[in-house]
Amino acid sequence: MSYFFGEDKEVENIVHSEISRLEEGLELIASENVASKNVMLAQGSPLTNKYAEGYPSKRYYGGCEEVDKVENLAIARAKSIFNCSYANVQPHSGSQANQAVYSALLEPGDTILSLSLSDGGHLSHGHFVTQVGKIFKISNYSLNEKTELIDFDKVKKVAFEVKPKLIICGYSNYSRKIDFSSFRDIADQVGAYLLGDIAHISGIVAAAKHPSPFPYCHIATTTTHKTLRGPRGGMILSSDRDISEKIDKAVFPGMQGGPLMHVIAAKAVAFGEAAKPSFKEYINQVLKNAKCLSRCLSENGLRIVSGGTDNHLFSCDLRNWKLTGKEAEALLGDAGITVNKNTIPNDPQSPFVTSGVRIGTPAVTTRGMREAEMKHISDFIVKVLKEKADPKKIKNEVLELCQKFPLYT
Ligand SMILES: *Cc1c(COP(=O)(O)O)cnc(C)c1O
Repeated sequence: MSYFFGEDKEVENIVHSEISRLEEGLELIASENVASKNVMLAQGSPLTNKYAEGYPSKRYYGGCEEVDKVENLAIARAKSIFNCSYANVQPHSGSQANQAVYSALLEPGDTILSLSLSDGGHLSHGHFVTQVGKIFKISNYSLNEKTELIDFDKVKKVAFEVKPKLIICGYSNYSRKIDFSSFRDIADQVGAYLLGDIAHISGIVAAAKHPSPFPYCHIATTTTHKTLRGPRGGMILSSDRDISEKIDKAVFPGMQGGPLMHVIAAKAVAFGEAAKPSFKEYINQVLKNAKCLSRCLSENGLRIVSGGTDNHLFSCDLRNWKLTGKEAEALLGDAGITVNKNTIPNDPQSPFVTSGVRIGTPAVTTRGMREAEMKHISDFIVKVLKEKADPKKIKNEVLELCQKFPLYT
């Protein structure tokens, strides 16, 4: 695929090098995917020019007839695939979607209860390095130390202690199904709102291969670029009328100015794609691939956190192979395999070093790879990390595999 920037060779060369990097390597970062050409075309369209502060039919600028149509279309498609009565498609990112929820439902000083970052939570759930962590009181629950699963006794215990106004479920590094209904029971007992942050799993929810956050969550947030395979962005969903009015105000004018209408058009395209039977097949294969790859690695002696996966990702404990996450990320990078280091539950290492890597199958599945290729990928990883093969040699084998599955033709 070739992009032409006319005079600007500097940018053009970088874009072309990035395309080569994507074509020639295996993308196993669980939060990444490959958006379709139509998503990119909408995102690269003249809709980028339009100022449309406000909401469809209630704008602060003229000339919004066409962008109103595209935002209404994105909203209608989102409501239909997620089975809810309200969608706000304007948040620029998943983190901003979460911030809008906090500012809509909470007062400064209120308590948020979320999973700790080191156990698989997300920075935007109130980590102390973020603005959110400074405005609200944050309490964390942790995973069960033996099973490495959500421990509802623990969640309940902390919830009764800290009386949160908001409980968050939904994670960045958790490979098992989320039991939204048990979270709602606890939220009701302490009088808290329940937020389901389905940033990672929204594609799986859309394909009905993971339980829906509704009717259990008062509100759900998601990114649009992970398993949902759309443009980079965020979204807020609900079926509660009072909440939805507050959310609209919190997004605009509370947090953001003009919405990115080109991105909203691309979201509409992606939601259209997610409603097709072919997307269900895609998600099915993502799940099969994650199961297959985690099983192959575990057969080679690698410990998988919680023993396996029910979704698109899993977390590996590298201590058996006497490696840190940082070392493994670098070695695999030299072999053309991209993963990210990640803490495992009760990690003895710092977040900059870690004892684990997180692996996900959404991007390689978009390329068309299936179980046979997962076995090859497992072999590459075993050779580099366990058998200490020269990563540069493996890189050639990685390249050969990638060339059979071109991303852009
Ligand atoms: C990725 C992610 C987000 C935020 O996404 P950004 O678009 O990068 O801000 C929020 N919550 C969870 C659980 C995530 O995994």
